[in-house]
Amino acid sequence: MKKKILVLGGGPCGLSAAWELCRYGHDVTIIEKESKVGGLCITNEYKGYRFDLGGHRFISHNKELVENVCDMMGDELLTSNRKSVILLNGKTFDYPLTAKDIFRKMDLWTNLKVFTSYLIAAISRIIFRKKDISFEDWIVNRFGRTLYNLFFGPYTEKLWGISPKLISTDWASQRISLLNLKDVIFRLLKLKGGTPRTYAKGYFYPRKGIGQMFDIMGEDISERGGRIILNATVARILVNHNSVESVCYTQDGTLKTLDCDAVISTIPLPDLIKAFPGFLTTDVLGHTTPLRFRSVRFLNILVDLPDISDNTWMYVSEGKYITTRIQEPKRRSPFSAPEGKTSVMLEIPCNEHDEIWNCPKESLLKRCLEDLKELGFDIKGKVIDSFTTSVTHGYPVYSLDYGLHRQKLFDFLEPYENLITCGRQGTFRYIFMDTAMEMGITAAQNLMLDTACKKTDVQLMRSEKELIEVSSVTA
Ligand SMILES: Cc1cc2nc3c(=O)[nH]c(=O)nc-3n(C[C@H](O)[C@H](O)[C@H](O)COP(=O)(O)OP(=O)(O)OC[C@H]3O[C@@H](n4cnc5c(N)ncnc54)[C@H](O)[C@@H]3O)c2cc1C
Repeated sequence: MKKKILVLGGGPCGLSAAWELCRYGHDVTIIEKESKVGGLCITNEYKGYRFDLGGHRFISHNKELVENVCDMMGDELLTSNRKSVILLNGKTFDYPLTAKDIFRKMDLWTNLKVFTSYLIAAISRIIFRKKDISFEDWIVNRFGRTLYNLFFGPYTEKLWGISPKLISTDWASQRISLLNLKDVIFRLLKLKGGTPRTYAKGYFYPRKGIGQMFDIMGEDISERGGRIILNATVARILVNHNSVESVCYTQDGTLKTLDCDAVISTIPLPDLIKAFPGFLTTDVLGHTTPLRFRSVRFLNILVDLPDISDNTWMYVSEGKYITTRIQEPKRRSPFSAPEGKTSVMLEIPCNEHDEIWNCPKESLLKRCLEDLKELGFDIKGKVIDSFTTSVTHGYPVYSLDYGLHRQKLFDFLEPYENLITCGRQGTFRYIFMDTAMEMGITAAQNLMLDTACKKTDVQLMRSEKELIEVSSVTA
């Protein structure tokens, strides 16, 4: 039976849900706040240059998803290889960190400290069975205090804006490649073969930026009869007993209402809860406030040089620099800049309306050009132009008790059988675009079955505590 389904939010998750539903002839409408679809995966064009919101790349564990994306993109999908480094104290280290690189590049004294603190951590873990409560514990227990103080601590604090003591371990297990010194020594002594645990190197990337993938998906949805309403902010969810009956949104200052049979929401979880009638949410509203998002400002610089470096990402750990990552978009696609020119993008984490968020572009540029010079990239005389972009919901902040608050909100939504919340914002999970897309597709498939939606199967997809990138199907 043809259903009238509303999809809230037109990022990768919402678009993928709508894409799947349209294939089966359902009546689908996407309600999207911004003036274009793509969410965090849009690409901005300016004077012949293209900048993502933080350079993206596409990899996935899901072979079928990769095949579908390749089919949809045709020749527009390029393949590329990742080469990332960490810039620290005037030196360049491999990313992810390798013990061999540390041994080679650090002085003897630092190496001794790294090695002894690693040994102390390893022995303490075995003898005292030290528990990981926070992100800091997770790192110190596996890498030792010296490496934590050098690389992980300052970077993490800058990224999240809070002490790593207050960050949950959940983020670490999926994001940090283990630097196994024992493994390295065994390999050096030829006592062990095989390849070490590592990060995916190859990846897919569209010719015109990551946004091209979702522009094409949006066009596909429209061609198949789906409707996309832009500049429309979800404002209210109207319910009758255990069912959502309609959704109200504001567009050009007017409140409009759409009736529905079912809803797939990908908007931030706290915002979805706040859109329910107030008398229903009195007991759970308090759980929305601790679920905070970290914002990011991107400084996009057009440069009159053919190239700056051969790195995809350059990680900057030191707290004195405000950026966490420097990228040259051309490394992803040569079509990111006009011929003979290049560009640089700096990711600068912040909180909405703080000093960095409010900093005038010219002051930000001045400061970042000085920082770039210190980091070895003196491009001051080569700047053609620059502009900034920003996102309010860059990263869900995994505070120590975020899981408890999130669960309360999931529990509140559970009885509404025709509503599912999914995606990065909708599940408050640090997931990549491929998982967001898989979630959207699975949520759509579950809604099409005439049984109650298995929400947890969708919301907890790929939450296994293993490194996300290992075993991905890559380019
Ligand atoms: C700096 C950075 C770099 C990243 N790099 C990579 C990468 O290399 N590879 C990768 O796979 N992933 C990467 N990601 C993650 C990727 O961007 C996300 O996983 C993906 O965008 C999640 O898709 P989504 O649809 O769940 O959420 P979003 O993309 O956030 O989409 C949510 C949509 O909902 C809309 N919305 C919000 N509120 C409302 C409302 N009230 N009414 C209507 N609409 C609303 C938003 O405007 C948005 O369009 C990166 C993320 C960041 C921040």
